[in-house]
Amino acid sequence: MTTGLQYIAHNAHDVTVGDKRILFHIPTTSLFDLDQMSGDILDLFKEKTTVSQADMEARFKDRYAPEQLLDVVEDFLEMEIIKGDSPLHPDHEKIKIENYPLSTIILNVNTGCNLGCTYCYKEDLTTPAKGELMGFDVAKKSIDLLLKEGQSRDRVNVVFFGGEPLSNLPLIKSAVAYAEERCASVGKKVDFSLTTNATLLNEDIVDYLNDHKFGIAISMDGPKATHDKNRKTIGGKGTYDVVSKKAQMLLKRYTARPVGARVTLTAGVTDVVGIHNHLKYDLGFAEVGFAPVTSGDISLFNLSNEELYEVFQNMKKLGAHYLAEALVGRNNGFSNMHQMMTDLYEGTNKALPCGAGIGLLAVDHEGGLNLCHRFTGSDIDKYGDVDSGIKKHELGQFLEGRADRDGTWCDSCRIRNLCSGGCYHESYATYDDINKPTYHYCDLMRDWIDFGIGVYSRILQENPHYFEQHVSPRTLLNTNRTFNPLDMGK
Ligand code: SF4
Ligand code: SF4
Repeated sequence: MTTGLQYIAHNAHDVTVGDKRILFHIPTTSLFDLDQMSGDILDLFKEKTTVSQADMEARFKDRYAPEQLLDVVEDFLEMEIIKGDSPLHPDHEKIKIENYPLSTIILNVNTGCNLGCTYCYKEDLTTPAKGELMGFDVAKKSIDLLLKEGQSRDRVNVVFFGGEPLSNLPLIKSAVAYAEERCASVGKKVDFSLTTNATLLNEDIVDYLNDHKFGIAISMDGPKATHDKNRKTIGGKGTYDVVSKKAQMLLKRYTARPVGARVTLTAGVTDVVGIHNHLKYDLGFAEVGFAPVTSGDISLFNLSNEELYEVFQNMKKLGAHYLAEALVGRNNGFSNMHQMMTDLYEGTNKALPCGAGIGLLAVDHEGGLNLCHRFTGSDIDKYGDVDSGIKKHELGQFLEGRADRDGTWCDSCRIRNLCSGGCYHESYATYDDINKPTYHYCDLMRDWIDFGIGVYSRILQENPHYFEQHVSPRTLLNTNRTFNPLDMGK
């Protein structure tokens, strides 16, 4: 250590939780307790940036034995939070994408919706009368494509999306029968899921969905006044009464899997705690996920910066409740928080923000292949179609470009391996450029992750069994969760 060791700030982030210091090791998304000595050494590096042996001796000679100091320095060197002369390893090798191991295909079964929610910004959305329905031929070819490209997967997912997917129930039923038969013939498991506005549900449909173990999410925005503000019939009437009645029927009757509510937060709606309490405790949803709208086409509905800040503050309040419940062994069902706990527990370390384009593709009613459900009907070029297959060269170029962080702010960002540049559709809606990372709320995201690290550390210290009880089993049930933490549906 003659020339000095250099502090690599972009690989380390330390967070204080109660009276403990936690080191967030950014390249691996791992957390470590910092004891007094490691914390003192880290502080010295933070203060001086380059530290020599003489600096170490001057600071610590009366406090720590040289061999103890050396152990910590070696650990820090191995973790690349300090470095000598050797070059650093990149978090991820430059990726070359040649295979597209699809696990999920999203079928946009009808562009039409029977509701007229004011904020809806689905690219291809239209009224039921003008709705373009997917035919069985396209659904069948989509499933064939999933099985061909997903050969290496033991389990595949078929997701039904719209418009309102239940407005094309005959197609859903034929696609399910075909997928079950084809998957059985090649020894694969298949899961189905859908997001619905619930208005078309009846007991027979619920029983059908139950028989096929659908993962179900209901779009619902909260108590009556909040829900009716935007979720309206085409004639402009609030839909809370019908949706809450149908949701309660579903929640009572449906036994196959936990049912979630997907909440869209738009301008003027920031009461995350009140909405969660209503959906979880008054109506009985197993989980509630929030999707704050910041870049919709209709700017009137976008949360302002102040409102978005308030949303994150309220998400932290609900996160504090999540923590209190977790410490006594219960999951309060706040799915944005639970997803973050899962990511931290599993050491999620992503080169790309989500599975769009690589594990997941969305098929529009004509058979065009889109990055995900949000792009169907957009003016972004398709990445092939169900007849000719995936345009692998073009898709690979896009994904490799997004995974390459050189020259972007993400390169040195402390949440780069969790956020990974953000949702492609947010980039498209905000900058009209799917290649550009979503820089518009980075500070809030970093603060949110710091909060999550604190919650995670408290649970780990005070009730570590929580993760075995609530995180591992849920992961097995949710093999198709490739979505961004802030992306909770349409
Ligand atoms: S988009 Fe922002 S928060 Fe996300 S990795 Fe890039 S710089 Fe960080
Ligand atoms: S995070 Fe964005 S790009 Fe990825 S699947 Fe979700 S909406 Fe699509």
